Amino acid sequence: MGPEHSCRALLIYPRFVSETFWNFAEACALMGARYPAAPLGLITVAAMLPSHWEVRLVDRNTEDLTEADLVWADIVMTGGMLPQQADTLALIELCHRRDRPVVIGGPDATSSPHIYKQADFRVLGEAEGVLADFIAAWDAGERAGTFTAPKFQVDVTRSPMPRFDLLKFEHYLYVGVQYSRGCPFTCEFCDIIELYGRVPRTKTTLQILAELDRLYALGYRGHVDFVDDNLIGNKKALKQFLPRLKEWQEEHNYPFELSTEASVNLADDDVLLHMMRDANFFALFVGIESPDPETLAAMRKKQNTRRNLVDSIHKIYGAGMCVTAGFIVGFDSERIEVGESLAHFIELSAIPVAMVGLLYALPNTQLTRRLAKEGRLHANHDVAATTGGDQCTTGLNFDTLRPLRDVLGDYRRVLDTIYQPAAYAARLQRLASLLDRSASHRSVPIGDLRGSVGAMELVHRIVSALPETREPFWRVFITCARENPNATRIIVGLMALYLHLGPFSRRVIAEIDRRIAATQQLTAAMELPCAS
Ligand code: SF4
Repeated sequence: MGPEHSCRALLIYPRFVSETFWNFAEACALMGARYPAAPLGLITVAAMLPSHWEVRLVDRNTEDLTEADLVWADIVMTGGMLPQQADTLALIELCHRRDRPVVIGGPDATSSPHIYKQADFRVLGEAEGVLADFIAAWDAGERAGTFTAPKFQVDVTRSPMPRFDLLKFEHYLYVGVQYSRGCPFTCEFCDIIELYGRVPRTKTTLQILAELDRLYALGYRGHVDFVDDNLIGNKKALKQFLPRLKEWQEEHNYPFELSTEASVNLADDDVLLHMMRDANFFALFVGIESPDPETLAAMRKKQNTRRNLVDSIHKIYGAGMCVTAGFIVGFDSERIEVGESLAHFIELSAIPVAMVGLLYALPNTQLTRRLAKEGRLHANHDVAATTGGDQCTTGLNFDTLRPLRDVLGDYRRVLDTIYQPAAYAARLQRLASLLDRSASHRSVPIGDLRGSVGAMELVHRIVSALPETREPFWRVFITCARENPNATRIIVGLMALYLHLGPFSRRVIAEIDRRIAATQQLTAAMELPCAS
């Protein structure tokens, strides 16, 4: 086959497990979207394919994969994260039944290539460093192979403009862009630093502004998420970029409201906080993991120690950005009162959306290597469940130091406390009093999906769908509208997320109860006297 022979590449984004904290299914339905996030990785890969190839994208989270798609394709390219593993494996089988070769890539295949050995091609590591090798092999007529990018070598300033034109914007709550890869910290459980390294690599200002130009030209308006592992990993570069981002927003009348992920030491840097506010960041995800300094030190998350974490969060609120935070139960150093202390911390810090998960030893992390050495890692620890959920229900894939039923009981206690409607409303109320949006750009971008329904109408729809929220949510709404009207839109947006979080937490609790019962049965069976 000659190098100019065209190829029809079908890019398929696999389904995430159905029961996950992050799918916000009910909130998506309320806003008229089908899934929160668009597949940025695949549209970046699409941009690296030869220009004479034809490309189609199917996102299994938002649309059906049809027979006609498979008949059309010369090759299928797919892959994703651990919660997409089951669907990815099912896709490989389906494609092979239709005689379609499959190229697999992405973070889970990179961390656990052995799981994907049925794929015809495995393209592992950052695609920019290796996709050309696969294309050359394909053009030369090869029909199988594994290509591995050298680690952490990719120069992201040469990463192409993602093919945003392949996205159906109306399907998503937000669209992602990526400014940097990698994180300088050393958290023991983290796979980011194993996949992308500890020296953050940033795109150029012109490059990322060109990406925003492209989104703007395609007509997208609204929420843009910087999907960086840690946006503030390279503060020096970021401080040069943010003023230009602010100018761009001003010149375009603030078409995008921004969110990202950042480490909590952001709170130490007033200049950076204000630069982010001025560039129109309104929300951050922060990994807190645990309020216990000993546990933080043991997991090597030292940036969270030697500080008052509650004050740090409130400082970010004071700069006009709300915080979603991650917490984990199941660390070796946890004490007996972890459930209560975690719930107490979440209330005090007034973090409405707290992603509390069970510790999961992700493939190829410092944690997994240590647990393997200690003989505590479960067999098939890197095989994702084919049914069920994410780390909220399937975590603890290793022998815990405390009895498993105690860890699960603590976990259950946190969820049961923080996702009661009154507790969630109390955090919203507190947040409404702390969130200073006076210096933030406040209107919804014109054309933004989120502006299609008024705040009062949204609250009405939320409390109609979940009657137990009626009284506390209306009370928060009225108080916020009276005392901090600039924060009302964000508070109502967080109420909408409760449509998913409330019922989801109850389903997780039911699943944890089943797991506790199974653990107790097993313990009882092991304690039975031998019948000899
Ligand atoms: S701060 Fe976040 S991205 Fe960085 S090492 Fe820790 S968990 Fe990973």
